[in-house]
Amino acid sequence: MTDIAENLVHNPTASHTRTVDDLRQAVSDHLRYSIGRPAAALRPEHYYQALSLAVRDRMQDNRSASTQTSLDAGAKVTCYLSAEFLMGPQLGNNLLNLEIETEARTALAELGQDLDVVLACEVEPGLGNGGLGRLAACYLDSLATLERPAIGYGIRYEFGIFKQELHDGWQVEKTDNWLVNGNPWEIPKPDVNYLVYWGGFAQHYLDEGGVDRVRWVPGRVLKGVAYDTPIQGYGVHTCNVLTLWSARAVESFALDAFNTGDYYKAVEDEVTSETVTKVLYPNDEPEAGKRLRLLQQYFFVSCSLQHVLHIMDDLADKSVHHLPEQFALQLNDTHPSIGVAELMRLLVDERHLDWDEAWTITVATFGYTNHTLLPEALEKWPLEMFGESLPRHLEIIYEINRRFLDEVMDTFPGDTDRLRRMSLIGEDGGKTVRMAHLATVGSHAINGVAALHSDLLKSSTLKDFYEMWPERFSNKTNGVTPRRFLALSNPGLRGLLDRTIGEGWLTDLDRLRGLEAFVDDAEFRRQWRDVKVANKARLAEFVLSSTGIELNPNSLFDIQVKRIHEYKRQHLSVLHIIALYHRLKSNPGLVIPPRSFIFGGKAAPGYFMAKRIIKLINAVGETVNADSEVNQFLKVAFVPNFSVQNAALIYPAANLSEQISTAGKEASGTGNMKFMLNGALTIGTLDGANVEMREEAGAENFFLFGLTESEVEQVKRDGYRPAEYIERDAELGAVLELIAGGTFSHGDPEVFRPLVDNLRYDDPFLVLADYRSYVECQGQVSDRWLDQEAWTRMSILNTARSGKFSSDRAIAEYCEGIWGVGPVSVRG
Ligand SMILES: *Cc1c(COP(=O)(O)O)cnc(C)c1O
Repeated sequence: MTDIAENLVHNPTASHTRTVDDLRQAVSDHLRYSIGRPAAALRPEHYYQALSLAVRDRMQDNRSASTQTSLDAGAKVTCYLSAEFLMGPQLGNNLLNLEIETEARTALAELGQDLDVVLACEVEPGLGNGGLGRLAACYLDSLATLERPAIGYGIRYEFGIFKQELHDGWQVEKTDNWLVNGNPWEIPKPDVNYLVYWGGFAQHYLDEGGVDRVRWVPGRVLKGVAYDTPIQGYGVHTCNVLTLWSARAVESFALDAFNTGDYYKAVEDEVTSETVTKVLYPNDEPEAGKRLRLLQQYFFVSCSLQHVLHIMDDLADKSVHHLPEQFALQLNDTHPSIGVAELMRLLVDERHLDWDEAWTITVATFGYTNHTLLPEALEKWPLEMFGESLPRHLEIIYEINRRFLDEVMDTFPGDTDRLRRMSLIGEDGGKTVRMAHLATVGSHAINGVAALHSDLLKSSTLKDFYEMWPERFSNKTNGVTPRRFLALSNPGLRGLLDRTIGEGWLTDLDRLRGLEAFVDDAEFRRQWRDVKVANKARLAEFVLSSTGIELNPNSLFDIQVKRIHEYKRQHLSVLHIIALYHRLKSNPGLVIPPRSFIFGGKAAPGYFMAKRIIKLINAVGETVNADSEVNQFLKVAFVPNFSVQNAALIYPAANLSEQISTAGKEASGTGNMKFMLNGALTIGTLDGANVEMREEAGAENFFLFGLTESEVEQVKRDGYRPAEYIERDAELGAVLELIAGGTFSHGDPEVFRPLVDNLRYDDPFLVLADYRSYVECQGQVSDRWLDQEAWTRMSILNTARSGKFSSDRAIAEYCEGIWGVGPVSVRG
C-alpha cells in the first residue's frame, strides 16, 4: 500500500468515505441486479464484473458530460482509425484514471474481497499484434487525459491474438476466446449500425438533371453494429470512446429465403457475415492477398466514415462541406487507407458533391502515419481481387491516380520513370493497388514515428512524394502512457517518485528531470535499488509459476520481450548466451556476473524462422538451466504468451533492455521506452527511437553497438558474405558449431539446421556482422554491473530523462501539428 493509501485508511476524508460508501453500494447493486446470483454463489469473477460495471457507470457520467460539452463548444473531434487496439486489462487502469483505487480497495474489503484477486479475474482484450495496436491504446489514454475529444474506431474481433503455449519448447497457438465470460466494459449499440456493400459492379447512369452518377450494385451486403467502450482520461472529467464494429447478417433469417423454404441458406448467410469480424490476422506474416482481410479493413472503415457523416448530419449548423473543421481522421498505418476512396465515394456518389470539392475535403481531413519501411510489409492488393471486391473503389482510385499523375507530370515534366514509381497502381509482377501511395496522396499530413524513421521515409520509401510535397511530411516520435506503464505497473517506483518529486510527473513527465538532483544521494540510490529488486522478485515468482524456472532476483535481469522477428534479432541475444556458456564450459573456474535472460513474444503462426527462434531459446534454456557448472551464472527463461497483462510485471523488473534490431528496420519501438521509463539501461543499435533515447539519456548512459543504417546499406551494396565473419571470429564459429552439432537438440543436427544455414549463407539481417560488436558491448555491461553504485546512477538518469517518451508529448504534437484540435474542459 502507498503512504497515501495507508494514510487514507487511518484518516479518511469525508469525500473518501462517501466514495467508498457509494462504490460499495454500487457493487452490491450490480451483484444483485446485473449479475443476479445468490450471495452464496458469488465468486471473485462476479465481483470483478460488478465492480467493473460500477466503474463503467461513473465513466458513463463523464462520457455524457464530455459529449455534451464538446457538442456545445462545436469542438473538432479526432478519429483514430486503427485495425488494432491492444488495450490491456481495463479495471485497474480505469480505477487509476478515476483516482479511486484506494476507495475501491476499501469498498471491496468491506465486502470481504481482495482487490488484487478481483483484478486478476480480468481477461484482456487482445485486439492487436504488438507495438502498433498498443500505440493506438496509449494514444487514446493521452487524448482523454489531454481533454481532446476523440473517437477510436476499430474492429471488435471475436477472437483476438492467439494465446501462446509452449509444448516441448515449440510455440502452440490456442484460440483467444476473450468474450466467453462477457465484457463489462462495452456497451452494445444495436441501433448504431450501417450497411456495408461488397463485390458486384458499379452502374453508371444519368440522373433527372442529366448528371453522370454512379450507383454500386453489390454482390453482398453486411451490417456493422457498434460496441462502445468508454476511455477515461486521468484526473479529468473527459471520457472519450472506442467504437468497435462487429459484423452481422443484414436480416437474421432473411425473409425471402425463409419463405421459399431455404431456411438453412438464410442461417448460412448469417454465419458467413459474422466471420468478417471473427479473427485478428497476425501482422508479420507476408501478406498473402487475403480477401477476408481486405473485407475487414473496408468493413470497419466504411462503418466509421458513415458514422462520422451521420454525426455531421446531426450538427444543426454544419453541412458535410465543413467536415475538415469538425473531424480529423488519422490512419494508423495503411490498414484503414481504403478510407480515402470510401470517403470520396460517400461524398461524390451518395452526397453528390463534385469531385474537386470532395477531394479537397478528403485531403484536408485525412492524416497518414507510416509504421514500416520493410518492403514486404507495405500493403498491396492484387488488382483483380481488389476490383472484384470493391469495383467502385477501383474506379475511384483510377480517377484519383489519373489526376495525380497529371500533377506529377506538371511538376516533373518528362520524368516518366517517376510516374511509374509514384503510381497508385503497381505494375511490377502482376498489377496491384499500392495502399501506402493511396494513403499518402489522400492525406494532407504524412508522418513517421521516430526521427530516423521519418528521415528514411523522406530519403527512400516515400522519397518521390516528399519531393513533390515536402510540407506534408513531419515526424511524430512515438510515446507510451506513464499511467499504465509506470503508475499502474510499477507501484513501488510510483511511490518513490511521489515522495521524491511530487505527483505532477504523471501528467507532466518532463518533471522526472527532478530526479537528477538525487543521483548523488546514497540513501536515494539504495531505495531505487530496493524498488528494482522487489520488482525482480515479483517477476521471478511469475516466471517460476509459469515456466518452473527459478531466477535469482540479485542476478542481472537481461530482458527482450516483443514480437519474435528476424529483424528484431532475438537470435543475436541467443548467440551471446551461447558464447557465455561456451566460455564457462571451456574455462572451469571462470566467474562472470550472474545473469537471467528473459524472453517473451509471439511469432506469427506461419513464420517458420521465428518459430524456430523460439524453439532455440527454449532449447538453450533447457541445456543451460540444467547444467550445474553454468547455472549459477546463467539462466534462460521464455515467458509464455507475452501480453499487456504480463508486460506489467516484466518491464519494471528489467536491469537491461535489449533493443538490438538491425539498424533501419525498427520504425520506432515503444517497448524500448517502457523499459527506459522503468529504469532499465538499454543495449541497442542506432535504430528507431533508440537514437533519441540515447540523445536524451546521454551517450554515457546507453550501451551502443553495431552498424548504423548507412553502414548496413553499404555492407549490403558491397555484397555481404556472412562466412567472412565466421572465418575471422573463432568464438562465433564455435557458437554456430554448438547449435549445428546438436548440443541444444539432444544431438539432432536437423532441428536448427535451417536457422544456422540461414545465418551462415544468407543472414539478411546482418546478425553475424554485428555479433562481435554486440558481445563486446555486453562485456562492458557486465563490467558496469559490478559497480552497483555506477549502475544505479545510470538507471536513475535513464528514468529522469525519459520524459520525452510520454504519449502525452506525442499526442500534443499531433494535436498541434496535424489535427488542429485544442482542449475542451469538461465539468463534472
Ligand atoms: C509495448 C508492447 C509491444 C511493442 O514492443 P516493441 O519492443 O516496441 O516491439 C508489443 N507487445 C506488447 C504487449 C507491448 O506492451
